[in-house]
Amino acid sequence: MKTEHCLFCDIVARTQPAQIVHETDQMIAFKDIRPKAPVHLLIIPKIHIATLNDILPEHQSLIGEMFLVTKILAKQFGISETGYRTVFNCNRDAGQEVYHIHLHLLGGRQLFWPPG
Ligand code: 5GP
Ligand code: ZN
Repeated sequence: MKTEHCLFCDIVARTQPAQIVHETDQMIAFKDIRPKAPVHLLIIPKIHIATLNDILPEHQSLIGEMFLVTKILAKQFGISETGYRTVFNCNRDAGQEVYHIHLHLLGGRQLFWPPG
């Protein structure tokens, strides 16, 4: 499963720098390098899972914890009441760029719907 050069595995291993804002046994969260909103964080599992198509029943608690971490971070970054959006992009048509699943947490401005 683990690919040779996975950018987000490198961030987990601390061989690639990132502004890490939260860490648990199973995951880390860090600031997106090209933020699309005043708050733009990425929540990722420490284990390598390439896309949402690759999640398994054994990952159920991991995926659930990603949302619990998101809730904590939304409060910490002051957007839980004003609002925020969570996004998983899967494969080409969704514009997935990094093939290690990540939950985007976006907020701090009015977000438009539907997304492009
Ligand atoms: P995707 O399009 O795959 O859903 O999102 C990938 C996200 O990762 C993009 O929002 C992009 O800005 C972010 N990103 C890409 N490379 C890096 C990096 O080296 N560091 C950080 N912190 N974010 C990155
Ligand atoms: Zn990876």
